[in-house]
Amino acid sequence: VTVLTGASPARRASTPAPTARVGMIGAGQLARMTQQAAIALGVELRVLTEDPEAPAVRAGATPVLGRADDPAGLDALAAGCDVVTFDHELVPAGLLAGLARRATVRPSPAAKAMAQDKLHARRTLRGAGLEVPPFAPCDGAAEVAAFAAEHGWPVVVKARSGGYDGRGVWRADDERDAARICREAEAAGVALLVEAHVDIAAELAVLVARTPSGARAAYPVLETHQRDGICIDVVAPAAVSADQAARATRMAVAIADGFDVAGVLAVELFLTGDRLLVNELALRPHNSGHLTIDACPASQFEQHLRALLDWPLGETGLLAPAAAMVNVLGPPDGSDPARRLTHALAVPGARVHLYAKAARPGRKLGHVTALGATADHALDRARAAAAALAGP
Ligand code: ADP
Repeated sequence: VTVLTGASPARRASTPAPTARVGMIGAGQLARMTQQAAIALGVELRVLTEDPEAPAVRAGATPVLGRADDPAGLDALAAGCDVVTFDHELVPAGLLAGLARRATVRPSPAAKAMAQDKLHARRTLRGAGLEVPPFAPCDGAAEVAAFAAEHGWPVVVKARSGGYDGRGVWRADDERDAARICREAEAAGVALLVEAHVDIAAELAVLVARTPSGARAAYPVLETHQRDGICIDVVAPAAVSADQAARATRMAVAIADGFDVAGVLAVELFLTGDRLLVNELALRPHNSGHLTIDACPASQFEQHLRALLDWPLGETGLLAPAAAMVNVLGPPDGSDPARRLTHALAVPGARVHLYAKAARPGRKLGHVTALGATADHALDRARAAAAALAGP
């Protein structure tokens, strides 16, 4: 484990101390954008990574070179930090619990574990009186069929944990589908749950920040659009009624309070008819909230730092009537969108964010935000710039 502290002892005497030191497990794009916020607040962000050229390190975060599944790496990260938090979820639960006895870890390992296991999360949320899609644990195709007999086909089979961007989510239209999915999951050692296929009118996300002292601040409700289970774009405010937005916000705040969340919590919801079902939780800044960097006085990343450090939370309103964010995915030809940056910059009002990641088809490499008089207006601009980055 190597800790590169940057300043030599001699320089340190005359260099002002950071306002706080935050350790982050992982150094991907979330850490990179957290570093962007840390600069303005005078916070030193230390990131645990094996890659000395990871996106957050390139942005100036202090690298602690080590592994997230190695106690020595975790301890090297935590040493001298006021709080330790997460860019990714790949820390074994036992190690995390140990770390939390030696350092301040936020959000708590218990809250983190609840959110990471979709079955555990569904049970906990339902137990707390929140509506979730009908679900059941699933040990094989017979259980899927029994569930479908009660709730009807199609059903959705999901990996209990480890899935992202639609990987680990399968729609089963009949028993043959179910048998194939269960067989493949068993071969890969993946534990499953099954849930009813929801007739989704809109997918919403609510981001709420909460401090250890119990202060909280919610952002305007976001509407996310996915293709093949992956988030393509996001608009704010969501095109839902004031009552629906208020209910969605109340649910997210109730979850933040109920699970004693510290930091930013993202709650993904399905709107079906006039009902709101909780789909997923993420206890960290979330892809749906990237537009807050350009569209809100305090971005989700700044807010996360404030919340983790128990500092006053920032303003969360929109700076324009509407905002949109479009993800920049690696194009099929494998080329790097960064090569076409100037084409995107030529689109008036578009704000380009690149993550300094190696280009691969379908990989999230950046995003574009635009503000506008309407969500459609903002989305058109952001899409134009994202299309320019994607190439001809
Ligand atoms: P991930 O962990 O990959 O984000 P999600 O549980 O959010 O997985 O599912 C990905 C997408 O699949 C959702 O955004 C939604 O579009 C669709 N989906 C998930 N669950 C259901 C469901 N029960 N009914 C209908 N569509 C679903």
